[in-house]
Amino acid sequence: MNLKHYIKSFLLWELVLGLKLTGKYLFAKKITVQYPEEKTPQSHRFRGLHAQRRYDNGEERCIACKLCEAVCPALAITIESEQRDDGSRRTTQYDIDLFKCIYCGFCEESCPVDAIVETRHFEYIFENREDSIMTKAKLLEVGDRFESQIAADREKDAPYR
Ligand code: SF4
Ligand code: SF4
Repeated sequence: MNLKHYIKSFLLWELVLGLKLTGKYLFAKKITVQYPEEKTPQSHRFRGLHAQRRYDNGEERCIACKLCEAVCPALAITIESEQRDDGSRRTTQYDIDLFKCIYCGFCEESCPVDAIVETRHFEYIFENREDSIMTKAKLLEVGDRFESQIAADREKDAPYR
């Protein structure tokens, strides 16, 4: 055993094994992606920036049931609501603190009317602390911007719902 170990050490066997592995990847297909010019494939279930959706008539979907607020494990959602003149209930405040959010998707899963969703959009930055608060207006704007993709992505999952 000692002789075998001695011979391996003498022949720098571990070094040879290491170089063998290096050589293998030297000629293997390169998988480095030159982001942002190149992008990796993205799942239609990707959980990125949140959005609030509307119905086709422009009415916001959210009915202020607060299920998303209750289920959020990071306590990132803050909702205030009131009753409208027509008797329907809508939010007066709907904030998501993206610094608290862990992008678990529970809010999306819990929503009975498919109002709060996570889009595939992930290339965003904040320059100020307060920018990390996604207000209702900002969420609706994101929803309006990505509605066609959001609807198409949900259609793909329709058979599994
Ligand atoms: S994705 Fe998860 S952590 Fe983020 S707001 Fe929704 S429930 Fe909360
Ligand atoms: S986003 Fe959905 S779950 Fe959250 S309060 Fe509105 S309707 Fe309820």
